[in-house]
Amino acid sequence: MQIKDVVIVGGGTAGWMCATALSMVLRGRCNIRVVESDEIGIVGVGEATIPMIQRFNELAGIDEHTFMKATMGTYKLGIEFVNWGRVGDRYMHGFGPIGQDLWTLRFDQYWHRMRQLGKAKDLEAYSITRMMSKANKFMPARHDQPNSPFSSIAHAYHFDAGLYARFLRGLCEQRGVVRTEGKIVRVQQHAETGFVEAVELESGERVAGQLFIDCSGFRGLLIEGALQTGYEDWNHWLPCDRALAVPCESAPVLTPYTRATAHSAGWQWRIPLQHRIGNGHVYCSAHISDDEAASTLLSRLDGRALAEPRQIRFRTGMRKKSWNKNVVALGLASGFLEPLESTSIHLIQAAIARLVKFFPDQGFNQAEVDEFNRQNRFDYESVRDFVILHYKATQRDDSEFWKQCAAMAVPDTLQAKIDLFKARGEVIRRDNELFAEPGWVQVFYGQNIIPAAHHPLAELLTVEEGAEFMTNVSEVVAACVQAMPDHAAYIRQFCAA
Ligand code: FAD
Repeated sequence: MQIKDVVIVGGGTAGWMCATALSMVLRGRCNIRVVESDEIGIVGVGEATIPMIQRFNELAGIDEHTFMKATMGTYKLGIEFVNWGRVGDRYMHGFGPIGQDLWTLRFDQYWHRMRQLGKAKDLEAYSITRMMSKANKFMPARHDQPNSPFSSIAHAYHFDAGLYARFLRGLCEQRGVVRTEGKIVRVQQHAETGFVEAVELESGERVAGQLFIDCSGFRGLLIEGALQTGYEDWNHWLPCDRALAVPCESAPVLTPYTRATAHSAGWQWRIPLQHRIGNGHVYCSAHISDDEAASTLLSRLDGRALAEPRQIRFRTGMRKKSWNKNVVALGLASGFLEPLESTSIHLIQAAIARLVKFFPDQGFNQAEVDEFNRQNRFDYESVRDFVILHYKATQRDDSEFWKQCAAMAVPDTLQAKIDLFKARGEVIRRDNELFAEPGWVQVFYGQNIIPAAHHPLAELLTVEEGAEFMTNVSEVVAACVQAMPDHAAYIRQFCAA
């Protein structure tokens, strides 16, 4: 069976990102069609990203400033976490490295020793992206200055998800992707193999293909509706199951970071765009009513709400297989992890890259399908562990929700990471897991998990040398930040919508 017609079911972020990538790499080798329904619409949230999205846009030939203008985008240098360890705590997971590694040891090992001796500042003083965020500054990395912190600035974006899908659709249509508007009412499968052969629209139109990409959102029209693949529920580790989203008026200062503020039974996101701020309250319905969740959200906005809060219900977890027969599920159809570390769009991007790697030719090779599913599961599970850490590493005991989080048993893979860090500050990045050592280190310290000791090699520097090392790094970082433009001014100059 030659793969000639690829049918993408759904035109949200997942559908159009997939169409963009496939239209680039297949270069006319297959016909690509996106079927979407304006009446059903898209989930319409998903506005904060991580730096890897730059790679996707670059490979798709998207100019950064054009994209920022089209999507009302702003820059993002990390996520500020408020009230997570204890009420009143505040720390940031800034993108990119912290300080400067020396010999074979990570910077934070020296920092931990000096901190215990009272000769180091807060960890943020050694991170360029955290200090930029604090000062509301922005500039992209300068790769022509490899020995300066300027070269290690890592950035992502905040954008309007609906405008991003529209922007990608424009590119795809120029590249020959065909869009079909209509509601799918029936899925036709081969009587013996169960492979999907076609989808049937309300109008009676039949769209046939050999490979189907299910980007239909939470409903998983093909992967679950037709193939009944099954779903693995992670609610016992991540108990939030609802979100209320509401946009509000902009604040006077345009902050270059996302904020995640913990409340009594969940947390609230704040994502500044050029024309508004996106807000949402992710909460656990077993511990707070919808009305209370809405009033918590509305009472903590920077400006006037621009709409009524919109509720989204979800089940955290993943599809048992994302690739089943001739259906590959992407985006919400393949699984969901709450947006605490803004990872969903990245998981779409990673799965698309994997689909390209294992793209079928003459039929389907089960070994390749199995490897796709294994890698996809690894991605989901490693992101899941990182998100769970934020809940587990809490000292809050002011609500039943937080007591439950602090007491819960976590996956063995995460427990091993916590134990390793508590002993001597060690973090091991397994295989090619998404979050590197600086991310884990910032969350551990930020939520008051302090190692019992530092690595012995940190003592290769004398106390005076160690203190001087700390001072030098923080002074260089501060001088770099001082010289940078304001985030809002940078946007006004280069990419105002
Ligand atoms: P959708 O946007 O739901 O698209 C589904 C598509 O399928 C639509 O086009 C719809 O019309 C079509 N469709 C469905 N049924 C039919 C049918 N019968 N016939 C025809 N068409 C059909 N991700 C991040 O990376 N960062 C974030 O900050 C972030 N925040 C989030 C906050 C919340 C509360 C939630 C729930 C998610 C968040 N996400 C975030 C995830 C992000 O929104 C999604 O990963 C992303 O939008 C992709 O969605 P999708 O394309 O899979 O689904």
